[in-house]
Amino acid sequence: MTNASNEPSFRESVDLMVDRAMAAMELDEGTAKAIKTCNAVLQVQFPVKIRGKIEVFTGWRATHSTHRLPSKGGIRYAPYADQDEVEALAALMTYKCAIVDVPFGGSKGALLIDPNQYDRDELELITRRFALELIRKGFLSPSTNVPAPDIGTGQREMAWIADTYKHLNPDDINYVACVTGKPVHHGGIQGRIEATGRGVQYAIREFFRHPEDVTKAKMTGSLDGKTCIIQGLGNVGYHAAKFLSEEDGVKIIAIIERDGALINDEGINIEDVFQHIQNHRTIKNFPGASFEENGMTLLEKECDILIPAALESQITLENADRINARLIVEAANGPITYGADEVLNKKGIIIIPDAYANAGGVTVSYFEWIRNISHIRFGRMQKRHDELRGHQMTAMLEEVTGSKVSENLRNNVTRGADELDLVRSGLDDTMRSAYQQIRSTLEDEATIHDLRTASYVTSIRKIARSYLDVGIY
Ligand code: NAD
Repeated sequence: MTNASNEPSFRESVDLMVDRAMAAMELDEGTAKAIKTCNAVLQVQFPVKIRGKIEVFTGWRATHSTHRLPSKGGIRYAPYADQDEVEALAALMTYKCAIVDVPFGGSKGALLIDPNQYDRDELELITRRFALELIRKGFLSPSTNVPAPDIGTGQREMAWIADTYKHLNPDDINYVACVTGKPVHHGGIQGRIEATGRGVQYAIREFFRHPEDVTKAKMTGSLDGKTCIIQGLGNVGYHAAKFLSEEDGVKIIAIIERDGALINDEGINIEDVFQHIQNHRTIKNFPGASFEENGMTLLEKECDILIPAALESQITLENADRINARLIVEAANGPITYGADEVLNKKGIIIIPDAYANAGGVTVSYFEWIRNISHIRFGRMQKRHDELRGHQMTAMLEEVTGSKVSENLRNNVTRGADELDLVRSGLDDTMRSAYQQIRSTLEDEATIHDLRTASYVTSIRKIARSYLDVGIY
């Protein structure tokens, strides 16, 4: 999506941010060019018969990098999708995977469609036909290019894609790994739906573990009681807002959706709003908050943490100067344009950038892909063994101390980790260590002044190393 003003397009914006990072490090021109260039873009146009009439659909899949395989990235269904956006998102995937040490290249896909205009059966036909195009043209397989959900797609679409691939490749034992974000009973993994929002929560928690960083953002203390505004209550926004408010004491004072915004300085119950949206397909008339028709203005309301979790180019040169948050966490991809980013940096607003903040999705997709190619659920081999060890430990403790271990402690010690525990633990570890790498780049290098540039430098160093190790041919 290109923004309305004269600002650079989304792809140009990403490139400018990458250029800024490359300028802050010593990287030869050739390697820089190799890293930045989009490897391949496929555009497909295909007919589908809908309600007795033939409609032609347009879709794209961009493979930004293949230094690691498969290349990975979501597929979105949106009425505003275009090639520029797909290329920008594919590039972001390259940098994102490197930041969180996920050994994949970067890719992204989109279908130009308003999914709300079609029923379930029609969407299945369209999705299967789109998948067929991507598979036949070499842009979808477990070993080369693996999509996942994004805006307008979810588990259902991923299951249709996996099934289409299976029918075309009956001999591929790893067929189920051709896509991630599948339903659990179709080879998906526990915790994938919540993963991106959960990752946003873990990123913010890690930020608050560093008092110097919190001070830089002109805040003090812990997450508890901090005010937060969220834009977009879809998959990512809903989970991030739910976990932050229910588990960390964050107060959600405004929710911006496509049809307006809800405001309540005392805090809004996320689950109640979510149920309201499920029942009424709008946030209007929600009883627990006041309503503002012009939702965008709420991006400018004072708060501790602003989380754009909807679309790209939401904070632009037009409104950047009026943003009143202390910390912005980019749960969406590209919500801040290059120009706005410079304005916000000058204003001293700290930004946790998209390529790190929303990497929880691809991290858990990586876990799902490993689960698929190893053909075993995480925890299956060791859960009962861990429980047995726990029982032996508590028995030993009781024998040595001569007193009974409390029921609560016994339950904690004797409970073996299941798949969801392991996924959350792996995600938490990934988000923590990636943030620590980024902040040490920021601390060590005098030429870097913001987390976004530090993220890109951290990432580009890893990608450059992999190019230099293998060579280019
Ligand atoms: P989604 O379709 O589930 O949710 C998007 C939400 O934004 C919806 O609730 C929609 O109503 C709302 N919205 C649309 N236009 C809006 C507007 N103008 N103002 C306010 N709200 C608006 O999509 P998602 O999967 O949650 O993705 C959201 C963002 O996160 C995208 O930028 C996506 O690329 C990024 N992301 C998603 C994942 C993932 O795992 N789903 C992973 C990484 C990044």
